Amino acid sequence: MPTPSEPGARASGGGIALCVPEIAGNEWSYVKDCLDTGWVSSVGAYVDRFEGSLAEYVGTKFAVATVNGTSALHVALRVAGVEPGDEVLVSTLTFIAPANAIRYAGAWPVFIDAEPEFWQMDPQCVADFLEKQCAWSDGVLRNRATGRRVSALLPVHILGHPVDLDPLRALARKFGLPVIEDATECLGASYRGERVGRGGDIACFSFNGNKIITTGGGGMIVTDNEAWATRAKYLSTQAKDDPVEYKHREIGYNYRLTNIQAAIGCAQMEQLDGIIAAKRRIAATYRSALADLPGVTPMREAAWAASNAWLFTVRIEPMAFGRSSRELLAALGREGIQTRPLWQPMHRSAAHAGSQCVGGEIADVLWSECLSLPCSAGLSASEQERVTTAIQNLAGATAP
Ligand SMILES: *Cc1c(COP(=O)(O)O)cnc(C)c1O
Repeated sequence: MPTPSEPGARASGGGIALCVPEIAGNEWSYVKDCLDTGWVSSVGAYVDRFEGSLAEYVGTKFAVATVNGTSALHVALRVAGVEPGDEVLVSTLTFIAPANAIRYAGAWPVFIDAEPEFWQMDPQCVADFLEKQCAWSDGVLRNRATGRRVSALLPVHILGHPVDLDPLRALARKFGLPVIEDATECLGASYRGERVGRGGDIACFSFNGNKIITTGGGGMIVTDNEAWATRAKYLSTQAKDDPVEYKHREIGYNYRLTNIQAAIGCAQMEQLDGIIAAKRRIAATYRSALADLPGVTPMREAAWAASNAWLFTVRIEPMAFGRSSRELLAALGREGIQTRPLWQPMHRSAAHAGSQCVGGEIADVLWSECLSLPCSAGLSASEQERVTTAIQNLAGATAP
């Protein structure tokens, strides 16, 4: 029996879970088709169809399915030319997966603070690092402090809202760096009218249980670069060189998505626009219901962005609200309402101790003050009202 703290698990006993999958379309019939025909494993028509529908939806030429979003990031880093011993600039306020993927590639993360308005990677910190802390030597861009080559930018679009890509792309061009987008939380969002995932050189999606759509577990790499797409497929299928003979020139990975998972993905893609519309409605309702509450700042949407509203998050300023975000988390939990803090910033993570960070103060504040609220696509109006009423009732209730 799943517990409500697991992503994708339904809370039992009348509770309200944070974010559960919306399995309401052709999932059963497509999966049955896989089982009936015996096409259950890592090749099959649903894998091709899922890749095709993702590429078409995002607007890239190619898509390569992978077993999860983390493996997509690992392969994307390798395909983009990140080598062992390199450094990659990555958001500090993120789920740990992209930082781990950098380490899988043998490279080192340099963490970049968030900006205070939309909580995304701050392009000014990236500029400061590249312009003031790096130098060219023999045509190679190096971090002056470590001597390591800087070889890629990895912005993470968090919580469904895009990073401000234009200044990052300008820096990437100026310094000759590829942009690898972690778009795992951002499928269906757009940046200046274009879908997130086509704004960099290569991008990764995730279909984990708590993402905007799910295949149980799964991932996807998208790119316009044919050589990179071919190499991504090659590396993710054990780098097999010959269609018949088992011969390999290099070490690859078993990172392929199964046809069964892709079948679920095809059914989920058919519902994506409806899911996003529902989640945007939920976000709008939260914004208006919580607008006048002192100390509560709902996450904002930039004029240049359309969020997919994946995980609706509020900032709780303890003095003005009367409780800290964690006190609110505990109090809501006692009423059966599941909320979630943001991730410990990577520059605070013991797993990545010793890594450099540019700034970090904004991420620290957001980590301590932010809370994600229940926002499943299927959240009913009365359930949402229960959440907003509970928050209103807890506001200003400081113990004497
Ligand atoms: C979910 C997530 C991932 C990893 O995806 P998995 O499919 O769980 O491996 C990577 N980056 C971010 C920011 C995520 O939220």
